[in-house]
Amino acid sequence: MCRAILPVSVSRIALWILAAALLSPAHWAQKAPPADAPYKNTSLSTEARVADLLSRMTLEEKATMLAGSGWMESAPVERLGIPAIKMADGPMGVRSWAGSSAITNLPGGPLKVLSTAFPAGVAMAATWNPELVRREGQAIAQEVKALGRDMILGPTVNINRVPLWGRNFEGYGEDPYLAARMGVAYVKGVQGEGVIPSVKHFAANNEEFERHRIDAEIDERTLHEIYLPAFKAAVQEADAWTVMSAYNKVNGVHCAESVELLTDVLKNEFGFKGFVISDWGSTYSTAATVNAGMDLEMPGGPPVKPWLESERVKAAGNSDGWLTADKVLAEVKAGHISEATLNDNVGRILRVIFASGLFDHPHTAGGEVDTPAQRAVAREAATEGMVLLKNADSLLPLDAAKIHSIAVIGPNAAVARTGGGGSSMIRPKQAVAPLDGIRTRAGAAVQVSFALGVGMEGEDAAQDLPAARAKALKEAVEAATKADVAVVVVGRYSKLEGESFDMKTMDLPAGQDELIEAVEAANPHTIVVLNTGNPVTMARWIDKTPALLEMWYSGQEGGDALSAILFGDANPSGKLPVSFPKRWEDSPAFGHYPGENLTVDYAEGIHVGYRYFDSKIVEPQFPFGFGLSYTSFEYSDLTVTPEKVSNDQPVKVSVAVKNAGRRSGAEVVQLYVHDGHSAIDRPVRELKGFTRVELKPGETRTVEFTLSRADLSYWSPFQKGWMAEPGIFEIQIGASSRDIRLIAPLDLKE
Ligand code: BGC
Repeated sequence: MCRAILPVSVSRIALWILAAALLSPAHWAQKAPPADAPYKNTSLSTEARVADLLSRMTLEEKATMLAGSGWMESAPVERLGIPAIKMADGPMGVRSWAGSSAITNLPGGPLKVLSTAFPAGVAMAATWNPELVRREGQAIAQEVKALGRDMILGPTVNINRVPLWGRNFEGYGEDPYLAARMGVAYVKGVQGEGVIPSVKHFAANNEEFERHRIDAEIDERTLHEIYLPAFKAAVQEADAWTVMSAYNKVNGVHCAESVELLTDVLKNEFGFKGFVISDWGSTYSTAATVNAGMDLEMPGGPPVKPWLESERVKAAGNSDGWLTADKVLAEVKAGHISEATLNDNVGRILRVIFASGLFDHPHTAGGEVDTPAQRAVAREAATEGMVLLKNADSLLPLDAAKIHSIAVIGPNAAVARTGGGGSSMIRPKQAVAPLDGIRTRAGAAVQVSFALGVGMEGEDAAQDLPAARAKALKEAVEAATKADVAVVVVGRYSKLEGESFDMKTMDLPAGQDELIEAVEAANPHTIVVLNTGNPVTMARWIDKTPALLEMWYSGQEGGDALSAILFGDANPSGKLPVSFPKRWEDSPAFGHYPGENLTVDYAEGIHVGYRYFDSKIVEPQFPFGFGLSYTSFEYSDLTVTPEKVSNDQPVKVSVAVKNAGRRSGAEVVQLYVHDGHSAIDRPVRELKGFTRVELKPGETRTVEFTLSRADLSYWSPFQKGWMAEPGIFEIQIGASSRDIRLIAPLDLKE
């Protein structure tokens, strides 16, 4: 077994160690365990099984388990029947596990995996519907099993700090509470199916710039209040089985080597019992990594040698892999890694193998993928995630009976841009582009025309030439002029928004602002649809735009979901999980990104997203939590019980919400806490609860929340804990962070 995974270039010392090991009594003791060995007994507790199995493993077998045996497989130990954990990338579906993006993106690549492309994380967050996210996780886990894999690399719960981060689309927006609710739901959905998730990337992976070398300088309070809560919740509320360590450094130490992050915070403070997996090539040492509590290095083994030895990976500091058995054994023999530590690392991997059921019920491939039920979840999520940002004179919804023609225009109109680029990119069996969705829904009686308007920047060089641009723009204006309504679908695509690079600008790609302006001038009934994972600048046209919809990267069902919203079959209910700044200069991180000398100072501290816009009184283009509906909602009867609390007494908050319009619709009722009496700097308000409620016309429902002392607290670096200051708090109920409808006091006594 050991011999099979050793690299060819193994050092003489390592060979000597290996020879010694092979001659050791432990080696000769290696024989198949009895059929009734306790670890095989399904009626024993996981802990008992782990302890028994560990006691039967040789040092070499244990060391073998700390590195992968392939691109997406952990190392099996056949003698003991320990299976490899077979992984696949997520989080928005199941991606081919054949290799890096360079391999999986090759047309006709080695292993083509087609699966359901679910909406991007930011779109899922925009639903504010954790139950739907749980069902998404469940559907993805079912596909994982059907494809014979065991683990999905998601959810991504990193916070959107900078609107230029290439991977914002994967995560759940800017707010730690919202991200926590979504992360917990996803993990529960996945684990409920006996599939292993990975909560990533721990921690503070908030930009792609120099992602192997950048050092995020963050104070302790900000870490605890903003960047860690989603991980904590996934561990404590969903008992997440694995967490992925990030590429970057935090406060001078690589995440995979951070005793503070992995041992002190994750394992001791949060009580994490599962294993930490490295991000692909995010390890930079042997003993320091193992001792910090990083349990499994990925990828690994002979199949990935060419990748590990590539110039790019070597330059990043990962050459050869660091947790190979020979390197780990050498450090054990040298006394730099104790056997107790090794046992802890391996025990964690074994625990997950038992707890997930993988040991007793291996997943065999051959099941169905992209079933109607899975597609239905993707469609529901795409629909609920769309955010209506502007709707002057109720231009929307469109009435198919009154409209005779629609011009569908733009570089994202006829192509389904289902997600951003990188490891999360799913290849669906089928995907509905906006144009297809609109054509199908509009029916034969409505004439639907298409014009490109402008080529997607950098996608097709011929379209970027000035003459081609002029022609495309002219055709778009002609189409818009002739139609009753124009729908302009703009945005980015996987090569302009994705993993391993940040965006250079918040502006739309070349020519798209001009296209919107020209179409709006040609047709007063223009609807602009944004197909992006991030806010974009819209100063040039927003004041003249009658209707604006953010559809995000909404997965394979996006086109149908869009047409359902446009024609009013579905009433928009999505709310922004991220503030839309008017311009990059207004963003809290402006001036502190991407950093200098490979260090990025999180100088804005806790004032991320709306916390910054509210505290510094900066007007966003659209605020966090904002989203319109085709109906309207009225809020009343806010009660807080009791109004005076002490210690850990829970507080009940209730509020009545009425659908005051004529269409059924859903409202996301948001609860914010305001601490106006604090001696320390606190945000103007912080989200501490939300509920999505569906209401028929005229219907009223009472929505209830329970608050705890933790919801009133801030992290004190001096006390090393959460503190709530006695005094009067405000409970604010709103339809967005800037549309607070009702306020009631809460008096915290002690
Ligand atoms: C990404 C991870 C991903 C891994 C495996 C890394 O580059 O950061 O999110 O799971 O690759 O593909």
